[in-house]
Amino acid sequence: MDKRRLGRTNLNVAQVGFGGTWIAELAPREAIKVVRHAFDLGINYFDTARWDGDSEEKIGTALQNVRDQCIIATKTGSRTKRESLKDFTTSLDKLQTDHVDILQLHGIDDEKTLTKAMNANGALQTCKHAQREGLTDFIGISGHKPRVLTKAVATGEFDTVLVPLNVVTQQALEELLPMAKAHDVGVVIMKPLSAKTANLITCLYQPSLSLVSQEVELKSMLGETSEEQVSSALRFVLAQDISVVIPGLKSLCEVDVAVRAGVFGGLTPIEQARFSFVGDAFCRDCGLCMPCPEGVNIAAVLRFLMLYEGFGLRVWAKKLYGGLEGGVNKCRGCGQCELKCPYGLAIVAQLGRAKQNLEVP
Ligand code: SF4
Ligand code: SF4
Repeated sequence: MDKRRLGRTNLNVAQVGFGGTWIAELAPREAIKVVRHAFDLGINYFDTARWDGDSEEKIGTALQNVRDQCIIATKTGSRTKRESLKDFTTSLDKLQTDHVDILQLHGIDDEKTLTKAMNANGALQTCKHAQREGLTDFIGISGHKPRVLTKAVATGEFDTVLVPLNVVTQQALEELLPMAKAHDVGVVIMKPLSAKTANLITCLYQPSLSLVSQEVELKSMLGETSEEQVSSALRFVLAQDISVVIPGLKSLCEVDVAVRAGVFGGLTPIEQARFSFVGDAFCRDCGLCMPCPEGVNIAAVLRFLMLYEGFGLRVWAKKLYGGLEGGVNKCRGCGQCELKCPYGLAIVAQLGRAKQNLEVP
């Protein structure tokens, strides 16, 4: 597998890494086998988190005797200095290591949380302290909102940023990746097969490499078989200006498929056309227009409209919309949301189109 430079960390990472969330669901012996198999096939970036059940413990055990050949990145979800220090001490213990390569702030999804984590008593201070003590080499940040992460990266405090990016969740390409490039921050991509935000989960099929979508439209976008679909999804991400993509892996077979997709020579013109989004006035899922006083889930409705209009995934968009609480019928057109949208979207008009296109007659 080709390697890429992880921004200013100068770490050399195999371009497909290991997302460690799902191994928490496996029995320890099975999980250790999966992690070790990934290492044996050339994966050298392993991402985990204090929040991810016993993932740290399993990764630590699997990689114990090859620790110096691996990059281990963990996360603290605590926001204060005191609590995150406790977290990090536990992480080192569970990972059975005397240091990690990257310590990340976990799930920073709004500006208030970012401010709290970065203030004088915030979790960032723990990361800095750990770095001074040689307990972590680098400091990273993770979250689901590119707008918030763009602000974080602009502070210059972070060496890496971890964000979702996939064929139907391309918001990170607009502001975050250029900002990361300007600061030489390493970009790590999560959820290459699914889109998840704080208030909405829309999977391409499922967040697992084993499951194949039976949706006709998704098949025509990504391919017929499970392997084709996974490969397409990962190839789209690898074609962007990023360092490493970390699908969540939880079986030997998934590792094999991911590593095969990691041998990547660029997208074909047909793939490029298939994955391109049509339109520009799209919702960035920043959430700043919400809550709506009437309970409309604005970001979700506009997301489904984007799937319908921008990607031509019409049947699928309608199906997802059908399962949504907070649909467009609750809107009474007050316009409050439009005043809060930093991108100046004509939200009410878009909701009108959503009503027309997504509602089942
Ligand atoms: S215009 Fe509709 S969606 Fe926007 S805030 Fe008013 S009721 Fe909610
Ligand atoms: S409509 Fe505007 S404010 Fe609301 S989530 Fe989308 S981009 Fe953000």
